[in-house]
Amino acid sequence: MKLLIVEDEIKTGEYLRQGLSESGFVVDLSHNGLDGHQMAMAGHYDMLILDVMLPDMDGWQILRSLRNAGKEMPILFLTARDSIDDRIKGLELGADDYLVKPFAFAELLARVRTLLRRSTTPVTELRLSIADLVLDLARHRASRGGKRIYLATKEFALLELLVRRQGEVLPRSLITSQVWDMNFDSDTNVIDVAIRRLRAKIDDEFDLKLIQTVRGMGYMIDTPERS
Ligand code: CA
Repeated sequence: MKLLIVEDEIKTGEYLRQGLSESGFVVDLSHNGLDGHQMAMAGHYDMLILDVMLPDMDGWQILRSLRNAGKEMPILFLTARDSIDDRIKGLELGADDYLVKPFAFAELLARVRTLLRRSTTPVTELRLSIADLVLDLARHRASRGGKRIYLATKEFALLELLVRRQGEVLPRSLITSQVWDMNFDSDTNVIDVAIRRLRAKIDDEFDLKLIQTVRGMGYMIDTPERS
């Protein structure tokens, strides 16, 4: 799941980015309204976390513009202003939730997860599977043949991407942008190392190998019946 945070307070932004990354999300961060708006319009984000008071373009303007453009991703507002008028304004404009600063990170995380759950209809989307491998997205758990598999957050994100797009060869550059931060240097072998670890956990002890290397192109998850 990919999130965009637009927050002009550097410390708050970094704190959120770090916390959400550690919780398994891919996070982009913008420190001003104009850039944030552009990123939200151009990128594929599952959710936005928007500060209200921003330089150049405030949170309300970003929200209005996105909704006018037909962008339906859930939006959570963060703001120090807690007057009832602001809340009503935000919700009327199409914000999905509202959190007043200062807030506890645990509360933010709970709200983010609730909004994402609500927006990913139908509910069956919360489980992804291929062959006997099952991913429970809500609880961040993987299992194969009914046996629990313990994955690090990046491993889970990588596996989720592969399973979502099963049968499709994913180039390294795409994996990089979806699973690691967008400025990540894709020349390194981080992806290969992560794939090796993932194979050790989900494929090594099973006869049916799911992760496939497509030489010169990238990686794919698939079952032999289909490929
Ligand atoms: Ca602000």
